[in-house]
Amino acid sequence: MFDNPLSSRFDEDDSVLCFDDVKVPWDRVFIEGNVEMCQKQFHAMPYHVYQNYQAMVPLSVKLTFLTGLAHRIAEMNGVTQFPQVREMLGQLAAETGMVDALVAAMEAKGTQVGPYFIPDRHTLYSAQVLTQQLYAHIINTLRELAGGGMIMLPSSVADFGNPEIAALIDQTQQSPKANSHDRVKFYKLAWDAVGSEFGSHHQQYEMFYAGATFVTKGHSYRTYDWTGADRLVQTMLDSYDLNGVSTSSSRLNQGANTCPSTRSTTNSTRSLRPPGGKRPRAIRPASSRRSSPAAEMRRIGTVREPGCSVLRPTSIRRRRSRTSIGKRSISYRAT
Ligand SMILES: Cc1cc2nc3c(=O)[nH]c(=O)nc-3n(C[C@H](O)[C@H](O)[C@H](O)COP(=O)(O)OP(=O)(O)OC[C@H]3O[C@@H](n4cnc5c(N)ncnc54)[C@H](O)[C@@H]3O)c2cc1C
Repeated sequence: MFDNPLSSRFDEDDSVLCFDDVKVPWDRVFIEGNVEMCQKQFHAMPYHVYQNYQAMVPLSVKLTFLTGLAHRIAEMNGVTQFPQVREMLGQLAAETGMVDALVAAMEAKGTQVGPYFIPDRHTLYSAQVLTQQLYAHIINTLRELAGGGMIMLPSSVADFGNPEIAALIDQTQQSPKANSHDRVKFYKLAWDAVGSEFGSHHQQYEMFYAGATFVTKGHSYRTYDWTGADRLVQTMLDSYDLNGVSTSSSRLNQGANTCPSTRSTTNSTRSLRPPGGKRPRAIRPASSRRSSPAAEMRRIGTVREPGCSVLRPTSIRRRRSRTSIGKRSISYRAT
C-alpha cells in the first residue's frame, strides 16, 4: 500500500474477451440488417451523450487531484515562490478549472426532453477533444515540476525497517516542508499517479476511451452550430460595401440574433435571450411542466443532429417500419 497507494487499490482490469461460439436469442436483437438505423442508435438518440457525459465527471475530479499533487510537489521541493513555478501552477489551475466549467456548462446548457434531461451535446464533444490533448500535457507538467524526486526514493517500505538504511533515508529524503517519511510517502503517491503502470494506463485511457482524436473531432464538427457562427460572419460582411458602411450595418447594433449564445440551436430548446435580459431557465421543475403531445414532439425534435432523423418514443409516431429477423418481427419507428 505505502509503495503503490493507487495501483494497489484502484487499478482497473481492461481485458479482451473472445467468444468463439455465441448464441444471441432473437429477443435480444434490436436492429438487424439496417446499417443506417444501427448508426442512429448512438447519435440520433441521447445514448452517446449519456455515456460520455458521465465520463467527464471523474475526469474533472482526477484533474483536480493531479493539480493538488502538482501544488504539493512544488511545496515539497520548496519552489512555490519561484515566478516560473507559479506560472506553471496557474496554467494548470486554469486548465483544470476549464474542465470543471465544461462539465457545469454541459448541465447548464442541457435540454429537457419529456422526463429526461440531456446534457449539451456539443459542449460534451468540445470537452472530449480538449481533454484528450490536455491529460498528457498535465501529466507532463507534474513530471517537470517534480524532477527526479518522484524516482530517487527508497525501493520499498521495507527499507524503513532497517535501522541503517532508515538513518540514511532520514538524512537524504527530507525536504523544507516535510520529514523523510512524509516526503517518501508523498512522492510514492505522485509517482503512482503519474509514472507507474497504473498512471500510464490512465493516460492511455484518457487519450482513447472515447475514440481516437479524429473521431471525437468529427463529433465536434458535426454538432457545432456552424449556422450561428456563419451568421456572425455574414452580418459583419453585410455591414460594409464598396461605398463604406452599408445600410444593413444597423443590424450589428441590434444585439439579438447575432450572437451564438443567444440564438436558438439545433440541439437546444433555449429561446432567444432579449438583449440585456436574462436567459430563461433551461430546466423547469417537473411539477411546472405541462406539455402537450405537440410540444413534446417539438422538444424531442430538437435533439436531432444535422442530417440525422430522430428515433421517437412509441407515443409519438409518424411512420412505422417493420423488419423481419428470423421468425420474429421487430418494429422500429423513424421520422
Ligand atoms: C485504456 C483504454 C480504455 C478504453 N475503454 C473503452 C471503453 O470503456 N469503451 C469503449 O467503447 N472503448 C474503449 N476503449 C477503446 C477505444 O475506443 C479505442 O482505443 C479507440 O477507438 C481507438 O481504436 P484503436 O485502439 O483500435 O486504435 P486505432 O484505430 O488503431 O488507432 C491507432 C492510431 O492510429 C490513428 N488512426 C487510425 N485510423 C486513422 C484514420 N483513419 N485517420 C487518422 N488517424 C488514424 C489514431 O488516431 C491513433 O493514433 C479504450 C481504450 C483504451 C486504450
